[in-house]
Amino acid sequence: MSALTELYNEQIKEHEKKPRNFGKLETANRVAEGRNPVCGDHFTVYLQYEDDVIKDIRFEGEGCAISKASASMMTRSVKGKNKADAEQLFSEFHQMVLGELDEETTPNQLGYLKVFAGVRNFPVRVKCASLSWHTMHAALEGEETTSTEDFGPDIASSQISA
Ligand code: ZN
Repeated sequence: MSALTELYNEQIKEHEKKPRNFGKLETANRVAEGRNPVCGDHFTVYLQYEDDVIKDIRFEGEGCAISKASASMMTRSVKGKNKADAEQLFSEFHQMVLGELDEETTPNQLGYLKVFAGVRNFPVRVKCASLSWHTMHAALEGEETTSTEDFGPDIASSQISA
């Protein structure tokens, strides 16, 4: 099995086909828009954030399979969490896809998010996988927009083929 085939595993495909928590959230009190110009991914993340807890979360938008599946799994992972726990998970996820955290040897809360570990071998896809997390983080911080141009890794245009 090639690394690329492994990347698009069944769980990722399933979430891409049937994204969870997809659509506008009318009760949202935090909204942020995230763009990944390298791939064309574009999502809006809606949070109902009350008493330091993410009571509800939804997303809408369009993107590649990895970005959409990641957004779907991100919403499931942070729903019900307080800000500190959500930010901790974001940090672990980001470090994992950047190859800075070994999810098998370092204690973490990643759980099923580990299916995205293979993304680290595809620099272009790191931004796809991270986009919804950065957007969720921006919403928590009360920011309205975020772009993958503002975070790593830097990508040469020659790499944009995966
Ligand atoms: Zn993408």
